[in-house]
Amino acid sequence: MKKHNFYAGPSILPAYTIENTAKGILELDNTGLSVMEISHRSKEFMDIMEQAQSLIKELLDVPQGYHVLFLGGGASMQFCMVPYNLFQKKAAYLNTGSWASKALKEAAVFGEAVEVASSRDRNFSYIPRGYELPADADYFHITTNNTIYGTEIREDLDVPMTLVADMSSDILSRPMDVSKYGIIYGGAQKNLAPSGVAVVIIREDILGKVDRSIPSMLDYRIHIEHKSMFNTPPVVPIYAALQTLRWLRDLGGVSVMERINIEKAALLYDEIDRNPMFRCTVEDEQDRSRMNICFVMTDAHQEREADFLEFASSRGMVGIKGHRSVGGFRASTYNALPRESVLALVETMKEFEKK
Ligand code: PMP
Repeated sequence: MKKHNFYAGPSILPAYTIENTAKGILELDNTGLSVMEISHRSKEFMDIMEQAQSLIKELLDVPQGYHVLFLGGGASMQFCMVPYNLFQKKAAYLNTGSWASKALKEAAVFGEAVEVASSRDRNFSYIPRGYELPADADYFHITTNNTIYGTEIREDLDVPMTLVADMSSDILSRPMDVSKYGIIYGGAQKNLAPSGVAVVIIREDILGKVDRSIPSMLDYRIHIEHKSMFNTPPVVPIYAALQTLRWLRDLGGVSVMERINIEKAALLYDEIDRNPMFRCTVEDEQDRSRMNICFVMTDAHQEREADFLEFASSRGMVGIKGHRSVGGFRASTYNALPRESVLALVETMKEFEKK
C-alpha cells in the first residue's frame, strides 16, 4: 500500500533526492568511489559544497555580504552559537513554542535574555503581536515556524536590530527577503535533507562585536573563513541537500513551491474547518502554519481519537499523531509532500465522518 508520510522530521524527501543520494552512495559520478568514502577536501566534494551553497543563494536570492554554511550539530547547536557570537548585553526572544523556549534558555546562559512576548497562555496556538522590543537588545530571535503547535510567521519582520530566525521547519517553503535577517538557520531534516546538518545564512558584518573569546567550532567567522570546511562536514546530508535544491530549482524555485504549499494547506484546513468531527488548534487563519497542520477531535468526538488514528493508518497515513504537548493530530505538509497525500488524508477524514 502507498504510504502517505506526514512525519514532522525527519520527514518526507523528494524521490529525486532519495534516488540520487542512493546512486551517489553507490558510486559518485563515475569516480569509482562512494560519496561516503571520498575526502571532503577532494575536488568532487568541494564542488558539491560549493554548488549547494550557491543554490541556496540562488533560490533565496541571498544578497551580497551573506555566507551560507552547512554545520553539524543541528538547529539545537545554533541555539547556543547565536548568543556565543552575538550576545553582548541583552537579547530579545519571541516565545512561540517549545523550540523558541529552548533557544531562549540557551541565550539566558549568557545574561539577560528577554522574553518579549509569549503565546504560552493559550498553549502556543497563536503568534503574539504588538509587543515592544528593548532598544538595547543585541538581536531579536524568532522561530518562524512552530513545528509542534502549528503556527507560522510568514512576514519578514522589520526590526531596528539584528533579526535572527530559526527556520528549521519552513526554510525554502516561500520566497523571503533575506536582507531583513542577520542570521537564518535551520536543521535540514524537514525541507532539505536527512538529519545531521544545519544550514546557516549569515550576514558577515554582524560578527566580531562581542568581547568574549569563542571556541573555534562555535565561531561563525572560523566557519566562514574555511568555507564550511573547518572540520569534516556531514558529507552525505550535504550531498542529499544538493539533490533537494536541484529538485526545487527544476520545479521553478520557491515562488512555485509557495503556490503549491498554499494549495496543499488550504485543502486540509478547509476540510478540518468543514468536518464537524475535527477542529484546528490554531483559530486565527493568519497564524496557521503551511508546514505543520495541527487538529484535534471536537468535544463531541473526543473518544474517537484512537479510532481515527487506526483508520488513517489502515489507509496508509503515517506520522499524523500529534505531538504529546498538543495531542490530537499533526499533518506535516513539507515541500516534498505531494498534493496527492493531502487529498488522501482529506478523503480519509470524510470517510471517517460517514462511518
Ligand atoms: N527548531 C525547530 C523549529 C524545530 O522544529 C527543531 C526540530 N524539530 C529544532 C529547532 C531542533 O532541531 P535539531 O534536532 O536539528 O537540533
